[in-house]
Amino acid sequence: MNSPDFSELLQCMATEGRQSPGLHTWMAQLPEQLKKALDTQRYPEFVGWWKRIEKLPLINQSQHWLDCAEVGATEGVLEQGEPLSDNQQRMIRGLLQDLMPWRKGPFQLHGTHIDTEWRSDFKWNRLAPHLSDLRDRKVLDVGGGSGYHAWRIAGAGARFILCIDPSPRYFAQFEAVRKLMGATSLDGKPRPAVFHLPLGIEDVPAQIEAFDTVLSMGVLYHRRSPIDHLLELKDCLRPGGELVLETLVVPGDVHQCLMPEDRYAAMGNVWFLPSVALLELWLRRSGFTNIRCVDLNQTSTDEQRATQWMTFMSLADFLDPDNPTLTREGYPAPLRAIMLADKPGSVGNN
Ligand code: SAH
Repeated sequence: MNSPDFSELLQCMATEGRQSPGLHTWMAQLPEQLKKALDTQRYPEFVGWWKRIEKLPLINQSQHWLDCAEVGATEGVLEQGEPLSDNQQRMIRGLLQDLMPWRKGPFQLHGTHIDTEWRSDFKWNRLAPHLSDLRDRKVLDVGGGSGYHAWRIAGAGARFILCIDPSPRYFAQFEAVRKLMGATSLDGKPRPAVFHLPLGIEDVPAQIEAFDTVLSMGVLYHRRSPIDHLLELKDCLRPGGELVLETLVVPGDVHQCLMPEDRYAAMGNVWFLPSVALLELWLRRSGFTNIRCVDLNQTSTDEQRATQWMTFMSLADFLDPDNPTLTREGYPAPLRAIMLADKPGSVGNN
């Protein structure tokens, strides 16, 4: 097995690091971090997933789909100039199936439509109208899963997008999509600068202050120390940068916060679900300004459900069968807020 190749990302970090030196600091730490993150003793399944990615055909050009619900690539042309054969398209489908379960998407890749557990496009549609203009921005998506939103952010014109997520399966899924995008679009534009690192927020060096926009969606309730998470996110932003925070909340006033006894909607590792008012207070006390809740949404079984690409249990199984306003543990059913906030400081793009 060849190791994943991070050279294109390192080149981008070297260039972007001229404006944001924190990226140079991180580059120096990456080899050690990646060795640990992809240690095949710890993650033996990764070897099999990576073999699948190596088997995917090398695509030279394709039609890129970034600005639509089903992200991906079609009309692939091989290195030698011929289009993908039916056989190769079938092989792609099989290799992508080997990377199941696919949770975040949907994707379209050369004839294969990956109907993921989550319709991540629904979240994007709720968020996108409220975001500051992403053109030319450097963006970090913390806990970005297989990178669905990272590609949408590229579609909205960002210049450099880094998705971090410690799950090696998500990293493998991202790399499969990236490889199938091919080197350039049909009109010769290079594939956008979207990258994934199989790392967690704790691997980002302190005070990096490198990104114009930082997203943390679906992560805060998994953190034992939510305020520390907000401070870490603030550290990732340059002064004047924008935070996007999406998390589970509960109804109620500033004094309301739910800490489940054990599982919440069958999920382990869930710690704090504040009310929106309390979340605003957390953001204020963490030093953010211009804090606003731009969306509040009850998660529906249209947005999160079992599919052919994720055949395990999903939201419908996690709710009380007699009362879908409650989880099966008896807590309020999943309600998600999208918050925007600024890091104080001069506003500019660099
Ligand atoms: N942002 C995506 C995925 C949310 S799922 C969305 O909104 O659809 C939450 C993700 O957080 C998981 O993929 C999980 O692997 C990731 N995660 C867990 N611990 C993390 C950490 N310490 N740092 C960054 N991401 C983490």
